[in-house]
Amino acid sequence: MLADQENRYRAAALRPPGAAPAPAFAELCTGCGDCTEICPSGLLYLGPDMLARLRTAKGCGECGLCADVCSHGAIELTPGMRVGLRKILADERRSATSF
Ligand code: SF4
Ligand code: SF4
Repeated sequence: MLADQENRYRAAALRPPGAAPAPAFAELCTGCGDCTEICPSGLLYLGPDMLARLRTAKGCGECGLCADVCSHGAIELTPGMRVGLRKILADERRSATSF
């Protein structure tokens, strides 16, 4: 991607919820794709610059799975995502003990 195009793209592209500020995010995100695979709403994708991007904030249930799976510190849990993740873990524990 040409530098100009890349700068324009980066300025317009949405970062995942809880993502580190723009310059740090570009350093931290390795483009591993773990968050894009786990997002239950299919909201995350790897951009042409191989950084995780958010298609739209609409539909994000703040489940926190993207932050939970990011082992590079590029996405941190927001307070809302912390609540969402706690609920998922509680649901998992409940279904594991209901057998
Ligand atoms: S899991 Fe983290 S490092 Fe991997 S693509 Fe997503 S934000 Fe980037
Ligand atoms: S918080 Fe959940 S729904 Fe929102 S972008 Fe992350 S994985 Fe997707």
